[in-house]
Amino acid sequence: MSAIDTDRFRERLLEERKRVEAAIAFLHEENPGSLEEQIEETVGTSDNHLADSATVTLDREIDYTLQENSEQVLAEIDDALQRLEEGTFGTCRTCGKPIAAERLEAMPWATQCIDCKRKEERG
Ligand SMILES: [Zn+2]
Repeated sequence: MSAIDTDRFRERLLEERKRVEAAIAFLHEENPGSLEEQIEETVGTSDNHLADSATVTLDREIDYTLQENSEQVLAEIDDALQRLEEGTFGTCRTCGKPIAAERLEAMPWATQCIDCKRKEERG
């Protein structure tokens, strides 16, 4: 089992954390109202604007998904940082085997090896 460069991963996780936090702050700032309110505002405008409104709504739905994902990722990053402190970072939480280095490189907050992840996704 190869040693994990924890300092490097900590740095990456902290960097990623800042990025995700900024993204969440940006999304909150950009969407102060609810999606429903925005739709009501666009109702009653002329037909010419319908296509535009649809696009705006779709964009906003993507934003909401992003926000949800961002908050999820933020929690996962915090977990990963804690695992770094505990010395369990890079170990699959399901089977206890080391998570592949390539996987950690791509997703430092991964909690499972690719095999367990795939099994879980299949249900
Ligand atoms: Zn596993």
